[in-house]
Amino acid sequence: MKTHLKTVKFGIGLFALGMLAVLPACSDEKADTKTAEPQSFAEHVGETTGRMDGARIAAADDEPGNWLAHGRTYDEQRYSPLTMINDQNVGDLGLAWSFDTDTTRGLEASPIVVDGVMYFTGSWSTVFAVNAKTGEELWSYDPEVPRPWGKNACCDVVNRGVAVWKGKVYVGTIDGRLVALDAVDGSVVWDINTIDRSKPYTITGAPRIIKDKVIIGNGGAELGVRGYFTAYDVATGKQAWRFYTVPGNPDEPFEHKELEMAAETWTTEGKYWEIGGGGTVWDSMAYDPELDLLYVGTGNGSPWNRYIRSPGGGDNLFLSSILAIRPDSGELVWHYQTTPGDSWDYTATQHMILNEIEWEGEQRKVLMQAPKNGFFYILDRVTGELLSAEKYVTVTWATHVDMETGKPVEDPAMSMENATQVIFPAPAGGHNWHPMAYSPDTGLVYIPAREYFGVYNTDKNFKEERGKWNLGVDWDAYAEFLKVAEGMEAPPAFGMLLAWDPVKQEKVWSVEMPTLANGGVLTTAGNLVFQGTGDGKFVAYAADDGTPLWAAPVQTGMIAPPITYTVDGEQYVAIQAGYGGIGVTMSEGPISKYGNDGRMLVFKLGGGDLPALAERDDSIPEPPAIEATEAQLSNGAVKFTKYCMVCHGAYAVGSGVVADLRRMTPETHDVFGEIVLNGLYEEKGMVSFGDWLSEEDAHDLHAYIIERSNISRAALAATPEPAP
Ligand code: CA
Repeated sequence: MKTHLKTVKFGIGLFALGMLAVLPACSDEKADTKTAEPQSFAEHVGETTGRMDGARIAAADDEPGNWLAHGRTYDEQRYSPLTMINDQNVGDLGLAWSFDTDTTRGLEASPIVVDGVMYFTGSWSTVFAVNAKTGEELWSYDPEVPRPWGKNACCDVVNRGVAVWKGKVYVGTIDGRLVALDAVDGSVVWDINTIDRSKPYTITGAPRIIKDKVIIGNGGAELGVRGYFTAYDVATGKQAWRFYTVPGNPDEPFEHKELEMAAETWTTEGKYWEIGGGGTVWDSMAYDPELDLLYVGTGNGSPWNRYIRSPGGGDNLFLSSILAIRPDSGELVWHYQTTPGDSWDYTATQHMILNEIEWEGEQRKVLMQAPKNGFFYILDRVTGELLSAEKYVTVTWATHVDMETGKPVEDPAMSMENATQVIFPAPAGGHNWHPMAYSPDTGLVYIPAREYFGVYNTDKNFKEERGKWNLGVDWDAYAEFLKVAEGMEAPPAFGMLLAWDPVKQEKVWSVEMPTLANGGVLTTAGNLVFQGTGDGKFVAYAADDGTPLWAAPVQTGMIAPPITYTVDGEQYVAIQAGYGGIGVTMSEGPISKYGNDGRMLVFKLGGGDLPALAERDDSIPEPPAIEATEAQLSNGAVKFTKYCMVCHGAYAVGSGVVADLRRMTPETHDVFGEIVLNGLYEEKGMVSFGDWLSEEDAHDLHAYIIERSNISRAALAATPEPAP
């Protein structure tokens, strides 16, 4: 038995990145059916299947046995009032059922459970409806996304879930479509395109539905797109409104009035509109039915580097911002920008939680967010006023947030304009999309956080290369940095579950874990916090003090958030197992030993054991010999860093979610050039790089990968067997 060795200290997953997500809502309609106690699946299949609307979601606490919307409730707290499973008996949890999704890519979905039926998505935007009590499949739907589109997905071909509304199930697809399915049989009601198909857009977030409008954004800012989100009529798919998050070509009229204000915060020498500008809405939304405000988080700049995107400065609205929007019209009510002039991939697309807190003696309606930039924000959600912003992880790009201006104060010593810098947090963030949870019982926010650094610099000769990542990073300097840094002592990097007191702005407890990418979080009135880890454990902690109470080894890394529900009076806890997402380049967890077969796992008290997965041979095969000079190996390293690393990992140490190139078979080595230059594996999602790489480059790349395989083999051979 061998552990999956980390051969590097610097470099893993330096570019992890993000995507989208979701909320629903509404308040002025009568639910067609509303059952205080969810009944069994069989009683509900038929004309009442998936009957859901805004009134029902707004009153979600009246039926705590269902999980009606993405974060259960409109306020997205991911707190369940259920107490049948609690801190006294959680040790008796066992497997109720499991369901194979027949995928090996990342799984990130929050299931929706309505009256005994569970609806969830898998990799490549597939949708499943199953009996929530037994796991029996009711129907499945495959949007048949062309596999080459996968190259546009910065962070795996993931999907964060569906929305269910008035008998239909809504899903956004990785190739930019929005599809409405019949909740009874999964048949397509409508299927519309939401993007310019000549651009590298993707959808990974769950749609949100408010007052018969389904709202969806998209991703793509790593490759180069202009961000927006759109509302469509639930019945027809007809567009109601669209909000662009960044201005377009200054020679053309503004699409809506808010862009006039935004345009004043950009300079034009960088021609940002040609590459897109970014600001994609790829994940989080929340809704307050009382205020009738939809909250939307926006993403990073495109390209990342502001010295290229907006030379001479500017805040670049509405990048990395929280927007409060009227859902009927798409009009902006207020905005708050977390990272003005973002240059670090510090999106504000992270999970937003709405709650009420006592703040300086006053009861305030607030919005809380822990975006990638490392500060935990509390905003008054009526006005957008900043109440608090404190560091929840190590932050070196800024010293603090100035409460007078509401803006961060950058540390000039960390400037990437003329230097390669190691900066905290990483592009993957102190916290990424993995949902947090808030317990009104403990008053704590549970954050799947990480301590991690990124390497940043500026490409003075940047030129857009359509179809690949366009960040503004100087890849030659980056490859040189990796070479020099290999084996050097790197700053500490680890994942953690952080219990954070938002009022005192301080840590109450935390649990560290070796994997950087770990799962989202659920908390319950049973004094429990549930989280799946990247190294394959599903764990329950006491919500008040963090005591570990139960853990199940599941042999698959988890990134998805758990949910809980009841059927026929029995409580279940569900989580998807399947590593990937921002972990797509992180070589960690049990993938090399067990593979990454995707499953929905559902637990209940007195349940059984999880069937063991078969162990695989995780050794690295001896690669063929190849002749190469130092100069050729050096060229291979630079080309790998520039074109391959973002999927296959720094130093060719792959995660296994996509191919770990050190583990290529002899047959794959034989056709290496055909794959890289001619797209032999295009149907598997590995597109041709023949537009950018020559035959000599392919040879040098191959030589570099073989060199890295041999280095890993030697390191593994020198590693003692771990104790049993
Ligand atoms: Ca990003």
